[in-house]
Amino acid sequence: MQYLPIHFDTRGVTILVVGGGPAAEAKLRTLLKTEAHLRVIDTEVGPEVARWAEAGKLECVKRDYEASDLDGVSLVYAATEDDLLNSEIAEAATARQIPVNAADQKDACRFITPALVDRAPVLVSIGTEGTSPALARALKADLETRLPPETGRFAIKTKALRDKVKAIMPDLADRQRFWAGIFGGKDLTAQLRTSPEDLTAQVENHLQDKDEIAGKVILVGAGPGDPDMLTTAARRALHAADVIVYDRLVSDGVMELGRREAEYIYVGKTPGEPSIGQPSINDILVAKASEGLSVVRLKSGDPLIFGRADEEIDALQAVGIPVEIIPGITAAAAAAAAINASLTTRGTNKAVSLLTGHDAKGFAEQDWVSLARPGGRAAVYMGVGAARFIQGRLMLHGAEADRPVTVVENASRPNQIITYTTLRNLPEDIAAAGIKGPAILLIGYAERMSVKDERLAI
Ligand code: SAH
Repeated sequence: MQYLPIHFDTRGVTILVVGGGPAAEAKLRTLLKTEAHLRVIDTEVGPEVARWAEAGKLECVKRDYEASDLDGVSLVYAATEDDLLNSEIAEAATARQIPVNAADQKDACRFITPALVDRAPVLVSIGTEGTSPALARALKADLETRLPPETGRFAIKTKALRDKVKAIMPDLADRQRFWAGIFGGKDLTAQLRTSPEDLTAQVENHLQDKDEIAGKVILVGAGPGDPDMLTTAARRALHAADVIVYDRLVSDGVMELGRREAEYIYVGKTPGEPSIGQPSINDILVAKASEGLSVVRLKSGDPLIFGRADEEIDALQAVGIPVEIIPGITAAAAAAAAINASLTTRGTNKAVSLLTGHDAKGFAEQDWVSLARPGGRAAVYMGVGAARFIQGRLMLHGAEADRPVTVVENASRPNQIITYTTLRNLPEDIAAAGIKGPAILLIGYAERMSVKDERLAI
């Protein structure tokens, strides 16, 4: 992050704008919304600027810029129509440690003004560090539609209600949870349109229920890694969590979405290394929820697939702690998507098994007879180390050696790698591909031929 986004208090400060033409006018349109004293210097100014001066909205000094104009000002905009002069002003301001913005000269700027969605006092600023002004505009257009005009009014009303809530709930964490509950509704855009009276009623209703605010645990599916594959419900839970208890395979991109003030507890288990046991994880969940905290138990993929969810649910329910579950996209679904393969196909493949390569006893035994039948299909989790075992068992039970197998490592992540092989070559090709990350073995799934290729094959 080269640029630090800050909201600068403009009360009692003077902002100097050198230039009175179109470039200056564009900057002034935003600056006029602030409380700063604005001084414009130029021999001539455009009609809009003249009008603002006449209306007393800014001070207009009609002469050439002089070095002493920088005295006593807090910010400078070098916005004349003369690039050379703008760089000269920028240099002089920088030498005097006064933050300066030079029109159309990014390198000379000490600060840049972001694209702004203005619902004062709610302001959303969007900056791309100069990489893509068009993207900033597109984001702005998107946010403009999502933040209704009532957003500012809503924020002001909230401020008034905060004191009321504070009087009843002296504890900051309680209040944060309370407000997270108020804003945790399904449709924020609709909520922002709430009239001040309705918002007051909503807050009062919540206050009456406040004794019921108790700890809970939400088992949240973090999906295969790409944060775009997270559900909206999962995002909302991550934003509202007091505690986030997370696994090894939860990606950094998903972790970024957690509430910043939450407590983060890592309980990852690395295969083949001593790591935290399941009973200790259960204990952490019970202890944190018993303190009245809202706990997110974040698991890769879907929490109900090879996630030991039952053990956690049992432990929590045994002591009466409520449990909620937010499903996620499981790795097999992401792996199939990566190769454009349908996990089931009408007519030819009516079932797919989700298997684990390992269980508590070692390599996991399965119903090999049915899996080995022609057309048998399976997605194997935790199967990389068990590849030779699986190959041996399937072939022993009669599976064809040329049955296709596709291995998808790091599905949905930037480092996704796909290896197409067959049962015959599975262990060797896994070794040759150097697969180290999490991977799914898609047994019976081949590289998809495009429709065109299929025609050629016929
Ligand atoms: N609950 C998870 C599975 C946890 S078991 C889910 O629903 O996806 C861990 C195994 O999941 C890994 O050993 C690997 O086989 C698989 N896995 C998890 N994330 C993966 C990813 N991004 N790509 C491929 N396989 C993944």
